Amino acid sequence: MNVLVVNAGSSTLKYQLMDSDTREVFAKGNCERIGQDRGIFGHAEFGGEKVVEDALFPDHASAIDRVLKCLATVDVKIEGIGHRIVQGGWYFDDSALVTEDVLAKILEVAPLAPLHNYGEAAIIEHCMAAYPELPNVAVFDTSFHMSMAPVAYTYPLPRAVREKYHIRKYGAHGTSHRYEWMVAKQLLGDDCHRLLSCHLGNGASLCAIEDGVCRDTTMGLTPLDGLMMGTRCGSIDPATVCYLQREGGYTYDEVDEMMNKRSGLLAVSQISSDARDIRAGADEGDENCLLAFDMYAYKAMQQASAMIASMAGVDTITFTAGIGENDWTIRRAFCHCFEWLGVRVDDVRNQHAVGRGPQVISAAGSSVTVMVIPTDEEYMIAKDVERLTA
Ligand code: ADP
Repeated sequence: MNVLVVNAGSSTLKYQLMDSDTREVFAKGNCERIGQDRGIFGHAEFGGEKVVEDALFPDHASAIDRVLKCLATVDVKIEGIGHRIVQGGWYFDDSALVTEDVLAKILEVAPLAPLHNYGEAAIIEHCMAAYPELPNVAVFDTSFHMSMAPVAYTYPLPRAVREKYHIRKYGAHGTSHRYEWMVAKQLLGDDCHRLLSCHLGNGASLCAIEDGVCRDTTMGLTPLDGLMMGTRCGSIDPATVCYLQREGGYTYDEVDEMMNKRSGLLAVSQISSDARDIRAGADEGDENCLLAFDMYAYKAMQQASAMIASMAGVDTITFTAGIGENDWTIRRAFCHCFEWLGVRVDDVRNQHAVGRGPQVISAAGSSVTVMVIPTDEEYMIAKDVERLTA
């Protein structure tokens, strides 16, 4: 099936037109700076060079309009559209064929992810109006985590507050964690039951998956929770927010911006949020960069321990996303923390795992199989469109 996969962020839109059977990508590209003065449109076809142009995208609808018009000139008939939706709230434990009701629910839960859901809903509305004959499928970052038990997802806040504001752990990166499970299971079969999935990119989360079911994950009500990330602080004492507002005079927006955009690796390294820059600094002995990496691995180890405990063991660990797939030193540091558990990484395999598809990097005799599995959220979305429109 020829599926257009749309992945919209707060000011960006990435797309791929792909065959959900062969995984061939016919066209792909991106719209940048949506809602800003000078936008950028990039488009590539059939593995060719990407053509980049100036553009103006006042809103998300104008961006998808440009994409659809551009794809109309590609000699591939679109048969369905899959949309990545950041927040499915309490409604969706699976992807859904979009109807008026589904769209209304995406908008109803939008206050939980205001920078994403409104734009994503606008894109769906535009697609439904412009191409009424095409099915649209919503694939939620949160739905995979809906299998968590109340003991894992409940926040110990007053019940009336929790219920009024729908406060609980929702998690994120569900499509990526689901992909990690699928591939690990395909490759390891009966040897894979308890998987710790480590999605380490700019945004980062861990997921405890037992026989395909999410038991727990590190992101919470929002994707700010859990691991220390590129620019996000991850889990800290929640009283820090009140303290900054009370003693520092910070406004809500200032704290929000600080914790999401100016914290994490960027704040500790004082150089960059990009792991490559921090690696270069650490190699030169920069103490802030060394601390940033040590903290990154330490916090990941601590939270991974909690994930492993939540499924009473682990037999498989997978690494994915920008840092997880590419930075063998982070993988080594992380796995060293679990030597007490019998985890052993083969240094040669680990260093050569980049860019070669799924790879086992654990050593013979390791108590846990450790793998690098490059994620493919677009493929999962395309497969869901195929499944829900069959
Ligand atoms: P996003 O959450 O934005 O999708 P990505 O999965 O693209 O993020 O990951 C971005 C992170 O991956 C950045 O910190 C970047 O430094 C890191 N990264 C990308 N390539 C490499 C590499 N070759 N070596 C180390 N880190 C890398």
